[in-house]
Amino acid sequence: MMIDKDLRQFLEKIMAYANRTGIAFITGNIYGGLAGFWDYGPVGVEIKNKIKEAWWNKWVRNRDDIVGYEGAIITHPKVWEASGHLSSFNDPLIFCQGKCKKKHRLDHLIIDSVNVKEEGIVVEELSIENLEKIVVDKNLKCPECKGDLGKPITFNLMFSTRVGPVQDTSSIAYMRPENAQLIFSGFKNVTDSTRVKMPFGIAHSGIVFRNEISPRNFLFRVREYELMEFEYFTNPEKTNECPYFDDIADYEINIYSRSEQIQKFDEDYVTMTVRDAWDKKIFKNLWQAYWLSLFGKWFIEELGINEKRLRFRQHLESELSHYALDTWDLEYHYPFGWKELMGCANRTQYDLEQHQKFSKTKLQFTEQVEGGVNRYIPYVVAEPSVGLGRILLTVITEGYTEEEVKGRKRVVLKIHPKLAPFDAAVFPLQKKDNVSKKAKEIFQNLRTEGFVVDFDVSGSIGKRYRRHDEIGTPFCITIDFETLNDNCVTIRNRDTMNQTRIPISNLSEELYRNQREYQVQ
Ligand code: ATP
Repeated sequence: MMIDKDLRQFLEKIMAYANRTGIAFITGNIYGGLAGFWDYGPVGVEIKNKIKEAWWNKWVRNRDDIVGYEGAIITHPKVWEASGHLSSFNDPLIFCQGKCKKKHRLDHLIIDSVNVKEEGIVVEELSIENLEKIVVDKNLKCPECKGDLGKPITFNLMFSTRVGPVQDTSSIAYMRPENAQLIFSGFKNVTDSTRVKMPFGIAHSGIVFRNEISPRNFLFRVREYELMEFEYFTNPEKTNECPYFDDIADYEINIYSRSEQIQKFDEDYVTMTVRDAWDKKIFKNLWQAYWLSLFGKWFIEELGINEKRLRFRQHLESELSHYALDTWDLEYHYPFGWKELMGCANRTQYDLEQHQKFSKTKLQFTEQVEGGVNRYIPYVVAEPSVGLGRILLTVITEGYTEEEVKGRKRVVLKIHPKLAPFDAAVFPLQKKDNVSKKAKEIFQNLRTEGFVVDFDVSGSIGKRYRRHDEIGTPFCITIDFETLNDNCVTIRNRDTMNQTRIPISNLSEELYRNQREYQVQ
């Protein structure tokens, strides 16, 4: 899609908001910043940690069939040879020959400059030569300075480093660009040290590094980010035996299938139940349908994403990686168009087979069956994979709201209360000793109960409300003289701005109730 003014304005607004409220800052900003790397501030780090914890709780701790793993960031170089990253983790790169000399990711430059939908161009399908042909035929110029563009090249996205004091070719190692390969190369460690039974998953959350050609759109495309993913393994002869499918079969999802994209060539999705999509053979694998739908439900119900802005897009044949049987993206409708929020590939047996070949170590799973032992290389039916920063950006984009209240602008982050940086803020109305003391006592008690609470005494009550609205604190609790007599406080709801007086003893239940019953507006 063409980049328009509104997109830039929206992103600038969100970035200014993120700076102002302590969510995220370009790293080293006092030195001019380092493109593609972001620091998280006091508010951002809380939201980020809550999202991460929600992911880990949901997909590891509350599942009987998934275990955790955490590999090293600097990884054995052979891992990347076996996975194919060294030879094919590439993007097309083009340099401006004009004034600015900037470099651009060529597939993105084409998408931003040409109406690819109307012209039937699928950039993922094109070789570097064909991408170059588009530049020449369309006389594309540098989007920054309108200068001529040079000859494109392919560029490997891996960051390398040297290990140890001797700096020769044998000391080269790589920072992991994904966690999946750590799961595959560590597969035997898990099966040897636990009692996992098929089918099962191995989850990994951790920082990855990708030397993106043009990091952009704030936290959407960065060079260092936390990736949360798991591999779900089955017996290769039982890839469609999903005993939990009925749990999700009647759930409705927005499907943008391959045939929908090819035939209509527009952005419409079709809403249907997961069972219908399976019966119509839109999904190729039952487990993949199960995991994707469960994630869709999680984003909507537990992270507060509006279902109308979430769709399941199937990759075109031409987009599929060489190892993938089928891949789907859960896309969110960002202000800059529908873009991937989470990917979910069916990776077959490819990766374990590759690591078995390169390491000469058997990576089979052994099962006791009637009459003997069954050995096989497990099959990955689904790999749900999502960037933590991308979720954070989505949650902020979804929740950022400007309203007019009594003629004045109110900025509110309507974020799910479970993800808010603070569960509540406590304000003493008067600075008098006894009111302050009571407020401190309530604040400490809430903390002891495990809530994340802010204690705010500076400025008028109105200012304190606005400050906490802006960062998404779901409740502000005010303590006044009356509290000392009736043991009640005024509790103000962020979204409705309604104020009610409730007994102090009901406070924690009220916070929990709101977290449980929160509905996206
Ligand atoms: P692309 O084609 O957009 O470069 P990809 O499809 O190769 O990326 P995946 O390997 O599928 O990316 O990444 C898995 C997930 O990691 C994505 O769904 C997204 O949430 C996140 N992600 C990928 N690249 C980036 C990035 N550069 N910055 C932030 N998050 C990213």
